[in-house]
Amino acid sequence: MNAASDKLNANLSSLETYLSRFKDTGILNLINGETRAASSGDTFDIHSPVDESFIASVARGSEDDVDAAAKAAKHAFKEWSSTPGSKRREILHRIADLIVERAEEIALCESWDTGQALRFMSKAALRGAENFRFFADQAPGARNGQSLPTATHLNVTSRQAIGPVGVITPWNTPFMLSTWKIAPALAAGCTVVHKPAEFSPLTARLLAEIAHEAGLPAGVWNLVNGFGEDTGRALTEHPDIKAISFVGESKTGSMITKQGADTLKRMHFELGGKNPVVVFDDANLDRALDAAVFMIYSLNGERCTSSSRLLVQQSVAKEFREKLIARVNNILVGHPLDPATEIGPLIHKTHFDKVMSYMSVAREDGAEIVAGGERIGDSGWFVQPTLFTNATSGMRISQEEIFGPVLTMLEFDTEAEALEIANDTIYGLAGYLWTENLSRALRFSDAMEAGMIWVNSENNRHLPTPFGGVKASGIGRDGGDWSFEFYMEQKNVAFANGEHRIPQLGALPS
Ligand code: NAD
Repeated sequence: MNAASDKLNANLSSLETYLSRFKDTGILNLINGETRAASSGDTFDIHSPVDESFIASVARGSEDDVDAAAKAAKHAFKEWSSTPGSKRREILHRIADLIVERAEEIALCESWDTGQALRFMSKAALRGAENFRFFADQAPGARNGQSLPTATHLNVTSRQAIGPVGVITPWNTPFMLSTWKIAPALAAGCTVVHKPAEFSPLTARLLAEIAHEAGLPAGVWNLVNGFGEDTGRALTEHPDIKAISFVGESKTGSMITKQGADTLKRMHFELGGKNPVVVFDDANLDRALDAAVFMIYSLNGERCTSSSRLLVQQSVAKEFREKLIARVNNILVGHPLDPATEIGPLIHKTHFDKVMSYMSVAREDGAEIVAGGERIGDSGWFVQPTLFTNATSGMRISQEEIFGPVLTMLEFDTEAEALEIANDTIYGLAGYLWTENLSRALRFSDAMEAGMIWVNSENNRHLPTPFGGVKASGIGRDGGDWSFEFYMEQKNVAFANGEHRIPQLGALPS
């Protein structure tokens, strides 16, 4: 781990100031514009993954709190959905402005709460502002439709906000992900009940506060903290909530499907991944190496689109592996608030134990650990960046989402073999392809089972493009207009021009 720097100490001191306000009250819910403790008075504590120190107590929302939030969202829906798009745009831009103003606070809190390195969380905070700006600008046109004339009717389509929606988010990059889900919902005219992950609720509270400071009417954005099995469940079962936008594990997605069945919820799921990066021998190997390292080891590997399976063509595998080992051994693991740190601690002990368990799984299955494989220190949940080689596609390390700084390297001979391995998982979120051969890139990307593929690039997100996965990686897409398709209903109105003959039934006898 890297040694403490002056900048780290300065960041710790700023963090202390930012957190001091939660000392007495803890992190409270926000329902109908009011900051409230849980109606039951229940709380739970959160601890930093850096050293297990106490951060704050958090209101543990009950079914009653979810009900109050859903009713507030239902009440506010009529006014918010009929607020002119231009006004919604103005408020969402104001939210973005306030995010930028408080970006340092958001980034420091997020790093401390999640263990993600500050260098990435600073960018993620600003990315949250960009998400708001992008959807703010779409708000005035969100209801636009088509005219579909026939000889006798003019069909006119328009979109209407679906109603109050539930947004359930995970603990990895929670701030950025929340903005990505909530900004389009508000731009579309929906009202929101947000349940953030119980392990990282700090920045969700900051975000809800910012939204209200920006002038969002009471009840439009409600925040209820709590655990998945009670608070989350109550939200997915609530009859006033018309849709659930969920980001999290695939098995949680299945549970939510069942929970929402009785109230016929519309669901959008962004789930897990085991994404391949495929490197052919004609690729620019230096760029491919940079991208492969970045896509698995940035964000602690706790990233849905991480390139957790590296497939390298045999003819260049040895050279690639040697360079990769050197890079992996050089990654800076350290305190997440130190700007030099590249990897921080994993989110919590249970997740740390899960990630560490794959070290023995790898050995038992016959793979080799050629870099990392150990815990770092005895305080906090730090794991060495790890590389498995000698792996085959059937091994658990090639099939299961480890969600840590752990890469499984596989080798292939032919293009057909590479494709077979790439598609050989239950997941299908993202894929990365490295080749200078355009025909192969077209062929391969067309046959790859993934919702998003980058050719000769790391994950480079453009907001108007569709984001989402196939197979066990998700249902639906967001980004651009796809977000509005989820948060809005299509309506068709047919105007008759009087030229058509209305069918007659029960004509009077002549
Ligand atoms: P998780 O599924 O355990 O929890 C996510 C959220 O769901 C939390 O807020 C949790 O409280 C809630 N929840 C849990 N059980 C619930 C239930 N029965 N009803 C309602 N809500 C419930 O996921 P996690 O461990 O927090 O996040 C990591 C996972 O998220 C990984 O699998 C990762 O790949 C995935 N993820 C996917 C994307 C994507 O875009 N595809 C993005 C980020 C993370």
